[in-house]
Amino acid sequence: MNRRNFLACTALTPLFANDLMANANDIYLDRDEWALLTSVNARIKRVKKHVGFANFNLISFKDTLFYARNYSSIGAFTKKEIAFLDKLFYEDPKQYGFYGEKTCFDIKNIVKIKEVQKIPYTGHYVFKGKALEDYTKLKQDVGDTLILTSGVRNVVKQLSLYVNKIYNTRGNMTKASESIAPPAHSYHTISDFDVGRKGWGYKNFTADFASTQEFNEMMKLDYIGMRYNKNNSDGVRFEPWHVEVI
Ligand SMILES: [Zn+2]
Repeated sequence: MNRRNFLACTALTPLFANDLMANANDIYLDRDEWALLTSVNARIKRVKKHVGFANFNLISFKDTLFYARNYSSIGAFTKKEIAFLDKLFYEDPKQYGFYGEKTCFDIKNIVKIKEVQKIPYTGHYVFKGKALEDYTKLKQDVGDTLILTSGVRNVVKQLSLYVNKIYNTRGNMTKASESIAPPAHSYHTISDFDVGRKGWGYKNFTADFASTQEFNEMMKLDYIGMRYNKNNSDGVRFEPWHVEVI
C-alpha cells in the first residue's frame, strides 16, 4: 500500500491499521463507540479500585452506578455510557462469531452473598452446591498445586473483562468475543470456574495449561466437564482451565 492509500485507510479505520492479527471481516466499534469504550473502561476500573478485588466479582450493576454517582473519585456514568453498556449486554454476539448460550437475562442480576462461598487467599468465590462440591473434590483429587484462578463473576465483572479485552484489541469485537464471553453469556455468572497451577501466573490462561500434570489429573475425573474444547461450536478459543459444572 502506498503512503497515500495508507493514510486514507487509517483515516477511515484508525483502529484496524494497528491490529496485525485482525481478519478482513472482523467487526469494529465505530469512533463514537470507541470513545465511550475508553471512558467506561477507565470508570469501571475506578469502581474496582474503590470496592476492592473480591467485592468487584459480585457487585451488581445498580450498586456500580450508585458508587460511581456518589464518589467523585469514580464519577457518575453518563447516559451515553450506560446506554453503551446496555447495548454490550443485550446485543446478540452472533454477529461477532460468538455462538455460546445466553446465561444471564438481566443486566441488574444480583448474586446473593449467601449463594456463594469465598475461597481463602484467592479473592474469588464459588457458587454453593455442585460447583463448590466439585471444587472441593478437585483439590482432593488433583492436589494443593491446583488453585482457583477465577470463580463467580456477576455482570459488572464480566463486562469489565469484556470491555478491557475490546480495549486491548483496539475495538475489534470479533477478536474480543473469541477470547472472553460477552457479558450475558458467561457461565461464570451462574456456575463455572477456572483453575490453574500454583505459580504459573498468566500461563494458566493459555493452551500451555493443557500440558500440566494438574490438567492431566483433571482429565481422569468424570464429575466435571470442559466447557470450551478445541474447535468448540460456541466460537470460543480452547480453554483447558475452564471447568464446566455438570
Ligand atoms: Zn472461565
